[in-house]
Amino acid sequence: MIDLRSDTLTQPTPEMKEAMFQAKLGDDVYGEDPTVNQLEIFSADLLKKEAACFMPSGTMANLASILSHCPRGTKALVGNESDIYIYEAGGASVCGGVVYEPISTQPDGRLLLSDLELAFPEDMNDPQFALPSLLCLENTHNRCGGVILSPEYLEEVQAFANKKQIPVHMDGARLFHASISTGIPVDVIARHADSIQFCLSKGLCSPIGSMVVGSEGFIERVRRWRKMLGGGMRQAGAVAAAGIYSLQKMISRLQEDHQKARRFAESLSQLPGIKVNLETVQTNIVLFKIQDSRFTWRSFQHALQQKELLVSEMGFGRLRAVFHHDVPFSEVDKALAVVEDVLAEGPVSLEDDSVVH
Ligand SMILES: *Cc1c(COP(=O)(O)O)cnc(C)c1O
Repeated sequence: MIDLRSDTLTQPTPEMKEAMFQAKLGDDVYGEDPTVNQLEIFSADLLKKEAACFMPSGTMANLASILSHCPRGTKALVGNESDIYIYEAGGASVCGGVVYEPISTQPDGRLLLSDLELAFPEDMNDPQFALPSLLCLENTHNRCGGVILSPEYLEEVQAFANKKQIPVHMDGARLFHASISTGIPVDVIARHADSIQFCLSKGLCSPIGSMVVGSEGFIERVRRWRKMLGGGMRQAGAVAAAGIYSLQKMISRLQEDHQKARRFAESLSQLPGIKVNLETVQTNIVLFKIQDSRFTWRSFQHALQQKELLVSEMGFGRLRAVFHHDVPFSEVDKALAVVEDVLAEGPVSLEDDSVVH
């Protein structure tokens, strides 16, 4: 089976498992796990921010960040195609009484300043309006195909947020992909946001975990929310050790994943009936559409699955292939051969097997 559904499927490497096995442990709710403490200091230093907090997931990292920034009854401005808005179960509304204001997402992942401006009421003192208290960006942007937000854009948004006196939170689940692809150091990207969450559990191959990074005062509030949400993990050094290994050893190799994605996308774009926008293939994600009248996206996905190739669906009939450590270069050409076979043979009956979602 070639599994291109997600980079969350990466397995820890043998060296990473050894680091987990050897980790010194303590009770992290007491602040006494030396390995967690080391990971938090390392993460804060890497992004040149004051402090960091280890989280069980990116979802909890974003949630605790929003709850720490936003008073009840205020608005978090989020992209209408963002992970926060689409895939995180509305947590900030449920847990914190925060209103999400969905802002139209451009195909390149940006939220236009002119659209953001409309979320601010003309009279901020008029008691009928919920006031914006946070602006959220996603970098790289998953549902836009792993696109990178440019430093110029980040600077513009930061200036806008400063003028409006609200903080910027960056959902950087794949922050290091943006850095490796552009050559811009992560701390330079991070400079444009007040808080950032990044995932250890995706391309960086850790089994579990995300980091939230920001100012000391902010991280104190995040820690309180993490405890309240049930994310205090006791001897969490067992998994934090994997995170340290990820940050020390697994970042520079992301370039290979980008090369695999590029190669897959370029060949895929040559096939009749397949549409790929090569401009959006900037990191490890390839979005594509089947535009062959014999297929729907569902029957195409199913036919690929019958030939042992798994891809996921990303809304609007788009299919997603994600490249990562556990997809070797040799599987790129094998995956392309499966797509060619399916196009040659046509759809198979949907009744044979269940469709992968
Ligand atoms: C995966 C992802 C998250 C959530 O991370 P989990 O660890 O799966 O909860 C948040 N934002 C983006 C952009 C993601 O891709």
